[in-house]
Amino acid sequence: MNEREFELKRNNLVRYLKESDVIKSLLIEKAFLKVKRELFMPSHLTEYAYSDNAFPIGFNQTISQPYTIAVMLELLDAGEGMKVLEVGSGSGYVCALLSEIVGPKGKVFGIELVKELFEQAKENLKLQGCRNAELFLGDGTKGLSERMPFDRILLSAAAGDVPEALVEQLSEGGKIVAPVGDHWSQQMQVIDKSKGKIRKIIPLPGYFVFVPLKKT
Ligand code: SAH
Repeated sequence: MNEREFELKRNNLVRYLKESDVIKSLLIEKAFLKVKRELFMPSHLTEYAYSDNAFPIGFNQTISQPYTIAVMLELLDAGEGMKVLEVGSGSGYVCALLSEIVGPKGKVFGIELVKELFEQAKENLKLQGCRNAELFLGDGTKGLSERMPFDRILLSAAAGDVPEALVEQLSEGGKIVAPVGDHWSQQMQVIDKSKGKIRKIIPLPGYFVFVPLKKT
């Protein structure tokens, strides 16, 4: 498939996500139009880059489904100039989207437990031309204390509860979005910190299935 064919498919996927009322904000729409998901897919699956599904990226992990990512990004409500952490950066696709959303004045940090995925994601982000995203290898349940605090934190793996370290590393006025539940189904939880107070809500009725957040 050539660049032009990928672009057409990318535009169609974005149109579908808008018509489904999943993509609502212009910043998120622009990010999905800019980031080439084919660069983040395993090479034998690139033709499916714009099919709205999760796909295996090796090591029992997946690149998340665009629909689900759009839901999370809308809840996260990241804006230009913000400092954002993604825990479980996998292929790097969501980091690339976040990097477009926060723009050149913002910064995205991704943390990933699997070394091979971390290395691959670094390559993917380079190919995408992403300059304001930095990846770290390690256990994201501990957050990333050397770069805290974060305006936004996105957890891209399923947790029974959001790790306390992440809540601690959130800025005043900050927000966390995380799939919270058991192994087979999770709901999106939004945590915000305002005047030092932590509030946790489940804003949507829907359920999702993420790979589990591992503890080391
Ligand atoms: N946003 C990624 C999703 C990857 S799936 C994408 O679209 O490609 C979730 C990722 O979380 C997996 O790559 C898995 O290895 C990673 N992960 C699981 N537990 C982790 C932990 N404790 N710390 C960091 N990464 C973790």
